[in-house]
Amino acid sequence: MTLPPTLPEDLVPRLSEAVDAGFDAQIALTRELVRRPSQRGAEHAVQDLVFAELSRRGLAMERFAMDRAALARHPGAGAWSDSHSEAPIVTGIHRPKAETGRSLILQGHVDVVPTGPEALWTSPPYEAEIRDGRMYGRGAGDMKSGLACAIAALDALRACGWQPAATLYLESVVEEESTGNGALSAHLRGYRAEAALIPEPTGESLVRANTGVIWFRVEFAGIPCHVSQMGEGQNAIDAAIRTIAALRELERDWNARRVSHPRFAGLAKPINLNVGKIEGGEWASSVPAAAAVDFRISLLPGWSAPEHAAEIESFLAEFAAADPYLAQNPPKLVWNGFMAEGYELPEGSAAEAALGRAHLAVTGRAMGSHIMPAYLDARIHALYEGIPAMNYGPVAGVLHGIDEWVEIESLRRVTLAIALFVAEWCGLEPV
Ligand SMILES: [Zn+2]
Repeated sequence: MTLPPTLPEDLVPRLSEAVDAGFDAQIALTRELVRRPSQRGAEHAVQDLVFAELSRRGLAMERFAMDRAALARHPGAGAWSDSHSEAPIVTGIHRPKAETGRSLILQGHVDVVPTGPEALWTSPPYEAEIRDGRMYGRGAGDMKSGLACAIAALDALRACGWQPAATLYLESVVEEESTGNGALSAHLRGYRAEAALIPEPTGESLVRANTGVIWFRVEFAGIPCHVSQMGEGQNAIDAAIRTIAALRELERDWNARRVSHPRFAGLAKPINLNVGKIEGGEWASSVPAAAAVDFRISLLPGWSAPEHAAEIESFLAEFAAADPYLAQNPPKLVWNGFMAEGYELPEGSAAEAALGRAHLAVTGRAMGSHIMPAYLDARIHALYEGIPAMNYGPVAGVLHGIDEWVEIESLRRVTLAIALFVAEWCGLEPV
């Protein structure tokens, strides 16, 4: 690797040694993070731990609540539903003695998705068990280990007697899995930098583009009665099932439009409409009075979220109008989460080049990139701050599934890569 001449010649071996020396502590911290269950709305305890860890390191600490009114005024905010988290955002700010380098946001989210049936897990989901070179647990991959990598990277620099020569924000956010309102709150707080790095579990590859996501809920009202009097289509669950089937047509239409998108044309089905949750009915012999379905659909980068939300709305209205029952009992559409657009990371930025050099120094290989048909908080920085927003993190698997894992050795490599990137991007000054 050809490092800028301003950096110490022995930077790579010294940092590598420091990462190794701190690695047991890093893994211990990662396990502590995983062991604090932090599903939506329950992230307080894990944020307390992050706050304590960052403040112990001498960073200037901020802990603040998400501002519901300010979010409501921002076009990129997701809807604040009853299940929205009230947990705080935690940020540790490093300010250098002399601001000679380029500023940086390092960001991670601590919210995790539900575990699914715990009985299916080989070890309990919040146990953070290590076996066969992997740590297993909900949030182990997505993305508590990545957040710990960012913290450990700064530790490694400090152990060598260095600190970033530029302002650095280390942001621990929530709501990444449901609205993106945590990262957006950090943006609204006013944190700004010249680049952002988010160590999501990307397999040590850079995310080039990702999709946006819209969440919506459709509520159906039925007329409850005994099944013996059931007329044609008065059943709210039947109405929900017909509507789900109809929405597959919208999904097909949207996927057909991928051909005009250079990065997504080659994917078979980048747009996924997920039926994520369904509820309704009370009794096998009663016609259900109510049913509701929670949907999630994705948007290609460049697609407007409000325009596509309007398309969902008119599609549903048209379908309902043609359905004898729904025409009389129109379903209610509720936006209850993400209203987020996708983004692309422009090629050739100085930040990407620096991260690429760090990756090469650690792995001996050129950094690859890939596109990801899922939501990522990087869109906040990409769309609303116009800075290079890079997702680059460890090798992990079965994210959101049973036996989610992260590869331990990958954490070592990613930590060193982040430390090298920070060194080049922010520059170094003595502690
Ligand atoms: Zn994530």
